[in-house]
Amino acid sequence: MTALLEAALGYAARGIPTYPVHWPRHTPGGASLACSCHRGPVCDRPAKHPLVRHGVKEATTDPDRIGRWWHRWPQANVGLATGVVCDVLDIADPEGLAALCQLQEAADLRLQGPLVATGGGGWHHWFTPTGLGNRPPRGLAHVDWRGRGGCVLAPPSRHISGGTYRWLVGLDQAPLAQVPAALRLLLDPDPPPTPRPARTAAPDLAGHPYGRPVLADELAALGRATPGHRNHILNRTAFKVYRYVAGGLLDDQEVTLAFTTIARAIGLSAAETARTLASARTAGLANPRTVPVPADAGRQEVGP
Ligand SMILES: [Zn+2]
Repeated sequence: MTALLEAALGYAARGIPTYPVHWPRHTPGGASLACSCHRGPVCDRPAKHPLVRHGVKEATTDPDRIGRWWHRWPQANVGLATGVVCDVLDIADPEGLAALCQLQEAADLRLQGPLVATGGGGWHHWFTPTGLGNRPPRGLAHVDWRGRGGCVLAPPSRHISGGTYRWLVGLDQAPLAQVPAALRLLLDPDPPPTPRPARTAAPDLAGHPYGRPVLADELAALGRATPGHRNHILNRTAFKVYRYVAGGLLDDQEVTLAFTTIARAIGLSAAETARTLASARTAGLANPRTVPVPADAGRQEVGP
């Protein structure tokens, strides 16, 4: 049994639907690698696209079918369906890691659980499923989320560059953990576009002078909060500011990072901060505040 088949059966035994993917094959003469598909060196997704017609939709935990697949294609890379047993935070490259580190610093976020070094120079962090589909976390460049309906390559698949996917922290070394709340916040769907009359009339309102002073005032109020009142004041001030986010006057991610930073600085725990912010954000986004659109631009009063 090849290591690839053994691994595929191992994932299936854990309940993770598995399917075969094209692999990097040596070109005649062996000088370089090309996709195993008929397009070979001109394939646009080399060693990353499925061998079966319906791709991840055909992924299975049935050991017999997996055995037949790898009997037919012994060198096939191992594709897994995400969103069933695990979701995966896909960090494409060192730039993505830097973006994530900034968030980790701001939110005192510690990522735990299984970790893969991809053959292409990135990382896959595995978590318990969120129920969310594929989406990029807001504000994190070069980082992606693979959830329901998504897929990833798993060790010991090989990348077209010659690298191999390998475990840095294996599935037996660390249990799957829930995605930390500060990161989960960035994965939540954007607020619905309907209650945003101001945005269509004035597309540059995100730089509106009203939003920034409100953010600064509320952050200052949070900074002055005394022990015993901090969580309550975080909730109150963040709720107020997220209403302006919903109105298109402030940037969602900037607000989240700013509140997280101040809340942590005054001594609230990462978990408490993330929980309270998530709740304030949900409530605030459901109650957008807007300012008058250009026709009424002379008025400084804030709308309902
Ligand atoms: Zn190909």
